[in-house]
Amino acid sequence: MSSYLDYQSSKPVDPRVIEAMLPYFHEHFGNPSSLHGEGDEATKVLEDCRQTIAGFINAEPDEIIFTSGATESNTVALIGYASRNRDKGDHIIISEVEHISIHNIAKYLEKDGFKVSRLPVDQYGKINVQKLASRITPQTILISIGYASNEIGTIQPIAEVGALAREKGIAFHSDAVAAEGLIPLDVKKDQIDLLTISSNDIYGPKGIGVLYVRKGMRVNPVIIGGGQERGLRSGTENIAGIVGMSKAVEIMRKEMTEEVKRLTGYRDTLIKNLLARIPKSHLNGHPIDRLANNAHVRFEAIEGESLILALRDEGVSAATGSACSSKTLEPSHTLISTGLLHEEAHGSLEFTLGRFNTEADVDRVIEVLPPIVERLRKLSPLYKAEEMAT
Ligand code: PMP
Repeated sequence: MSSYLDYQSSKPVDPRVIEAMLPYFHEHFGNPSSLHGEGDEATKVLEDCRQTIAGFINAEPDEIIFTSGATESNTVALIGYASRNRDKGDHIIISEVEHISIHNIAKYLEKDGFKVSRLPVDQYGKINVQKLASRITPQTILISIGYASNEIGTIQPIAEVGALAREKGIAFHSDAVAAEGLIPLDVKKDQIDLLTISSNDIYGPKGIGVLYVRKGMRVNPVIIGGGQERGLRSGTENIAGIVGMSKAVEIMRKEMTEEVKRLTGYRDTLIKNLLARIPKSHLNGHPIDRLANNAHVRFEAIEGESLILALRDEGVSAATGSACSSKTLEPSHTLISTGLLHEEAHGSLEFTLGRFNTEADVDRVIEVLPPIVERLRKLSPLYKAEEMAT
């Protein structure tokens, strides 16, 4: 038996999505830019999907720009917005717990002459909106705060940030990749100007994503060519991918409430049992404002990597942190930002649940992990030293 609890790094495509996509590889292969019947048909499909996806975030269809995924959407949001609005100011605010793509884009912008403030977070990984307000200067043109952490699952006060940004006339971007499918998204209610979502995070195919660009926002393209997507993202549209993302949205809209309820139950069972059964274990991230699918637990005096390998031998797949930076030896920047020491951050495991998990997967982790921790701790010099000190 194998149990996959790493849905944040990759999700299987829902079979209903695959079925919806299949005709768009061979039967309906037209290019929306063509003037013949096949082209018209592709245009109609493209615009229908745009409408469906707009409805998912309470946007208008012409505010939806299709991209190749979240990294590209983040790139257009930050570089595209900053470069176009340089005349208004040169200061950008992000938080310390953003996804690595936002951090690296921010570094790129710094090299290009922009100034970036990185807002610290509390012990749960949450930003403070008053502190955010105090960082705003007359030069601030853009605030980018992720909806929720893809690592520790902490949900940010997005509506408050949106209200502040709108009041100050500053553009607000949010990367909602970790939150989509778990929290209802509403760009109007939250006063978001630029929003990143991706298809795979709602059980659609990889290689397709969306940047929501509120009407009237001035943004430069990053990919330049034939002028598709209102000139903001050139290149022939990935119709099969777009159909897949749209189908994934349709399914999510119908099933999200039930799914979130089920995942919350699994998450709470997992957290409660791991903390109760494993001595010297702690929850990372916010105890209440956390994603329904996220259980992030820290074990004293032990290495997360060795836990992952031992779990792997038992057929359980989990993560030590973001897959986008898991091959580096550096501890997670998110955990360090919450005030953990390097060795504490290294002793953490991230379980993210999803659509195809069952209670049996949760039970399996609860059964196999406590003896693994006990066995590895017996071998750990760190643990022996700690035991002797207590
Ligand atoms: N933002 C967040 C919050 C993510 O978790 C990820 C990775 N899934 C990305 C952006 C980048 O996504 P991708 O690698 O699909 O472009």
